[in-house]
Amino acid sequence: MPFVVQKYGGTSVADSERIRAVADHIARTRRSGDDVVVVVSAMGKTTDDLIRLARDVSRVQPGRELDMLLTAGERISMALVCMALAELGVAAASFTGSQAGIITDGTHTNAKILEVRGDRLRDAVARGVVPVVAGFQGVSEAHDVTTLGRGGSDTTAVALAAALGAETCEIYTDVTGVFSADPRIVSTARRLRQVSFEEMLEVAATGGRVLALRSVEFARNHHVPLHVRSSFTWEPGTWVTEEVPVMEQAIVSAVTSDASEAKCTITGVPDRPGVAAALFRALADAQVNVDMIVQNTSLEGTTDISFTVPRTELAAATAVAESLTPTIGSAAVFVDEDVAQVSLVGAGMKTNPGVTATMFEALAREQINIQMISTSPIRISCMVAAGSADQAVRVLHTAFGLDG
Ligand code: ASP
Ligand code: MG
Repeated sequence: MPFVVQKYGGTSVADSERIRAVADHIARTRRSGDDVVVVVSAMGKTTDDLIRLARDVSRVQPGRELDMLLTAGERISMALVCMALAELGVAAASFTGSQAGIITDGTHTNAKILEVRGDRLRDAVARGVVPVVAGFQGVSEAHDVTTLGRGGSDTTAVALAAALGAETCEIYTDVTGVFSADPRIVSTARRLRQVSFEEMLEVAATGGRVLALRSVEFARNHHVPLHVRSSFTWEPGTWVTEEVPVMEQAIVSAVTSDASEAKCTITGVPDRPGVAAALFRALADAQVNVDMIVQNTSLEGTTDISFTVPRTELAAATAVAESLTPTIGSAAVFVDEDVAQVSLVGAGMKTNPGVTATMFEALAREQINIQMISTSPIRISCMVAAGSADQAVRVLHTAFGLDG
């Protein structure tokens, strides 16, 4: 029997009417003869509200307690979806992450899945019962409740699809799929019919908000095809799969932007072995996630190093950089928060020269200055002033013929 995992995001289960619509769709899926395992997010902005509540109550939020609090959001959704299914005569049972057998490491608020013991879910499916699993959560080997990081319900769904051998994992959301650009920025953005895991990884890592990055990694590693689609229109959405046939490959599939990072520059860095190692080891030890790094060739024995970090980690990064000044003998540390990263993603880039030139020319025509550049085989990213990011996305979308 065809077997699908369906994940419903926060907006898909935001209120009672939406929960009934979701239950209706699950019932329809069952009637069509498919086995289904459901994963739900917390209703609407529940997770944000709970985080705010925690901050109001205390300046200290031990990870273990924060996780206990946040997992409540998904428990509410799963129970309500099961009740709505009961009214439709569909046998269903809710499972917390722990009951579903999702075993994680002990890193509270950002735990990694170590193992999925899906026995209880398999039993339920075999008995004709639809398991409705609370997303975003698991249990550590020390039996503490954990969460998988923001957006973690996507990861729950993909992990269950992989462990239970589902043919597809459907991710229901409030948009109709993955777009060539954020439709709020580019009105002519088009829905992509199909993207490869590699492209989707780059999109998720550079500001595309449709799927959590980790869920895409999981899907790629375990070969789980994803279908991103709308729970408002139920129309077919975007497939995220292995390779997209070369004939269908666009040179550039999507233009993304991300204003969540800030730039840190260290000037007058001595050009000798071990300096970069000392700096980036210290940043790593301070749990700072470095993204782009640029170092110039030195002419007079010193160079400048610039790197970007999440805005939330800028203070920590700056403190590390400044504390190293005496040891490595660098001159000064500058920060710039007024930056945004604009990226082109496309598997066809690998075999088509000139993409970079076209990108730089399009930005130049708009007098948009490029502050930093980084590339992967299927991505080119430029750091620009935050204020020009939207305009940059629009001109690049046009320059690469993506306007629908
Ligand atoms: N409710 C969690 C969050 O808001 C997990 C999720 O929605 O995927 O991050
Ligand atoms: Mg989400």
